[in-house]
Amino acid sequence: MFILFCLNACDKQLDESHNVHPAAITTSDSSSVFIIEQAFPGQTGIPKKGELFGQTISYKDINGEAVFQGDILLSPEQLAVITDSAGSANGRISGAGLADKFKRWRSFIIPYTIDPALPNKARVTDAIAHWESKTPLRFVMRTSQSDYITFRPSSGCSSKLGRIGGQQFINLGTGCNTGTAIHEIGHAVGLLHEQARTNRDSHISVKYDNILQTEWDQFDKYQLSTTPGFDFREFDFNSIMLYAPFNTYAINQSKPTMTRKDGSTWTPNRSSLSAGDIKTVTSMYANLYIIWNKYLYAVNVKDGSYAAIDNTWSGFNAKFIAEDDAYLWAINGETLWRVDRLSGKFKSFGSGWSGAMGVTGIVNGNTRWAIQGTNLYAINAQGQRFKVTNRNWNSAQAILAHKDYVFVVRSDNRLVRVDLNTPEPKVVRDLGGGWSNVKAIAVSRASSNEVYIIRGSSLYRVNIDTGNAVVVGLSQWAGTEGMAGIDGKLYIVAGGILWEVDENGNRRSLGGGWSGTQSMGVVRNANVL
Ligand SMILES: [Zn+2]
Repeated sequence: MFILFCLNACDKQLDESHNVHPAAITTSDSSSVFIIEQAFPGQTGIPKKGELFGQTISYKDINGEAVFQGDILLSPEQLAVITDSAGSANGRISGAGLADKFKRWRSFIIPYTIDPALPNKARVTDAIAHWESKTPLRFVMRTSQSDYITFRPSSGCSSKLGRIGGQQFINLGTGCNTGTAIHEIGHAVGLLHEQARTNRDSHISVKYDNILQTEWDQFDKYQLSTTPGFDFREFDFNSIMLYAPFNTYAINQSKPTMTRKDGSTWTPNRSSLSAGDIKTVTSMYANLYIIWNKYLYAVNVKDGSYAAIDNTWSGFNAKFIAEDDAYLWAINGETLWRVDRLSGKFKSFGSGWSGAMGVTGIVNGNTRWAIQGTNLYAINAQGQRFKVTNRNWNSAQAILAHKDYVFVVRSDNRLVRVDLNTPEPKVVRDLGGGWSNVKAIAVSRASSNEVYIIRGSSLYRVNIDTGNAVVVGLSQWAGTEGMAGIDGKLYIVAGGILWEVDENGNRRSLGGGWSGTQSMGVVRNANVL
């Protein structure tokens, strides 16, 4: 299924990703005019400047809430307020922190309650059913969870952005329908408005001469560099998060506030998540990454759903990709790349890596590790490399960084451990031989004193101090193409299937079509598990 899909549509899929919103209500002339979701309809509020994700934004103070782009309620920690006071040297009130990392819902679960006073509760339950049918996110009635959403009646429609912590509200006025609820849940999940993408000017023209000046901030772009995930792939005219071209912010509502670059308008999607919306959520709520063919995929470990985030990895030949909070690191050909794990955008961090055996995860300070030819290198966050130990690592079979060690399966079939905390030349401990035909090495959790190695058709659990190895589960791993681990689970591609494997070797299929996998990695701090 996966392969067929990709043969036909992968490039196209990468070109189609994001889209729109609005709920029809009034018409003027022959055009439908849409009411944009608004937190406080009819209230203009006090225009203010603040900082969101590193960029100055305009928002409105309405009834003490910071309202951004009509229906997004910013929390104080998301918003660093900029004052106009001359006494504020950097224009920022100290202590008003800037959220540099988006808050996602943990374990893909969103606890919620519905205010008994909310009319037409089916709007909420239908919207939730839609979200659950399209994404791995699951909504559960709140019992004692500390972080949860309450759907409550209001004059307008609005939501906080992401998981705020504690109780947060999605406000639904009488004019808010199921589609609106889907949109507002989108904000709570972490989606922003499509027209606010940093690259939107390449796709749409905003007609400020037909927009009420007091509402210009509704059409602001925002900076995504420090909070990736929203500028996912291409602009999506079908996103439920995109405003309608005809809307209530227009001076002349028979004319659009936005058009495509060719001057035409679009029919807004106000009823369901678009394919692009779904892929964006997949990307935000993923922490397993697979390089397959020329694609880099973000994979949700709950159900195996995936989103292609880049398609430029043709010829990828290194075995490993590394991870940190926001980035993947990979060597392809000559170059070490740092890849934004949500947007897929990449940046060179140096060349001269021809023939290197990938780059490992980050341990022992903010350091990645790679073997190239005879040398083991430490790589810092700027991509600078430093030779470590004077051993000859020529033709190592596998490398793994874990705790304050780098584990190497050498070409003479010995597993060795480099103790990174020892002075140069580092202490290298021999953990035993017999490791021929090693296909993959991984660790299942950051605190573990064991690593997992697939040799031949067997999965071994190996003590990192003694080298003691035991076979785990059935010897069914002959066709292994890659392995990564997180949160007590291993993820193994074998026989073209992506398996979730527990620490006893029990496995569960997360879907097929992965034959040809070149590399796998996890982001340990994605904050989703
Ligand atoms: Zn909105």
